[in-house]
Amino acid sequence: MFERYPVLKEALPHIALADLPTPVERATKMGEALGLERLYVKRDDLTGREYGGNKVRKLEFLLARAIEKGAKEVMTFGCAGSNHAAATAFYAQKVGLRSISMLLPQPNAHSVRWNLLLSFRCGAELHAYRGARSVAIGVRVQRMRHRLTTGVHPETIPAGGSSALGAVGYVNAAFELAGQVDEGQLPEPDRIYVAAGTTGTAAGLILGLRAAGLKSKVVAVRVTGERFANVARILALLVETNMLLHACAPAFPRFSWTEEDVCLRHDMYGGQYALYTEASVASVRLARETEDIRLDGTYTGKAFAALMSDAANKSLEGKTALFWDTYNSRDVSRLIAGVDYHELPRAFHRYFEEDVQPLDRDTHPA
Ligand SMILES: *Cc1c(COP(=O)(O)O)cnc(C)c1O
Repeated sequence: MFERYPVLKEALPHIALADLPTPVERATKMGEALGLERLYVKRDDLTGREYGGNKVRKLEFLLARAIEKGAKEVMTFGCAGSNHAAATAFYAQKVGLRSISMLLPQPNAHSVRWNLLLSFRCGAELHAYRGARSVAIGVRVQRMRHRLTTGVHPETIPAGGSSALGAVGYVNAAFELAGQVDEGQLPEPDRIYVAAGTTGTAAGLILGLRAAGLKSKVVAVRVTGERFANVARILALLVETNMLLHACAPAFPRFSWTEEDVCLRHDMYGGQYALYTEASVASVRLARETEDIRLDGTYTGKAFAALMSDAANKSLEGKTALFWDTYNSRDVSRLIAGVDYHELPRAFHRYFEEDVQPLDRDTHPA
């Protein structure tokens, strides 16, 4: 993206955090298992040597803006096991910022424990809330407190990092993919499957693919409630992100956007955020057994399940499918070694004391 529009380098806050480009791999064995001849995986699970996943590309812009504004702290939002909150805590610490996470309850899983311990190890201040309204009050209290102690407000990073600026990380990623197509690493994909939580990833990709001249269709697989992931929200992000880039680089085209540009799939959600489904667990298992790729039951398992279902009903016949792996696959056990959960605020102890949800029991050995 910066190569094509060099003025964006000056105009946008950006700091290099991710290991880019991430590899794109042909998943021959997984493809065989599904009867697909051309199946590829974009390995955004490897965006960082220690901690990867899709949030790193967004944080390159979001944390840079916090630094640019002179903030000492960033405040963000999510559920207890939020990958976004953990990634923010990890990379904020790397660039010398403190972080505060306002977290809501969610079904228990091993990954909830890892993310909580990692955030804590990275010095994040963790607050547990039970509902959106209590978060709103908490935000005001924390902003005030930090203003009083540091003289500046914390910089607010939205849930999932999905603002226009965060989505720019995935516009950039689409240009990266276009470069890999140009180099012959993969044919132009017909369809790209990606999990949609707060939808910045999908919106950034849709915009970036159009700007880069690829015709690939993004299949955004909803894994959160419709309040968070819906077509109107993706359209709003498309328009806002497009305007931001056009304002920063007038040569970046302004496209018109309609509902036709957005394909949001609802059939893999399973009724609750972070509640694993049989289909998501089956796809976690298939990816591990065929390609040794580590997916998760909350996001990537559900997104890959949509691809599996399309393969089964033959709608991918003769097509090139790309699965965009957004989950951090790096093992964090070394990073969290020695952290005792009793040191976390009390409200989070239950994730360590209660059992994980039934479908997580055999996906991850304890
Ligand atoms: C946050 C997240 C997503 C969803 O990205 P959005 O931009 O919020 O839609 C997908 N996969 C994983 C593993 C995530 O942590």
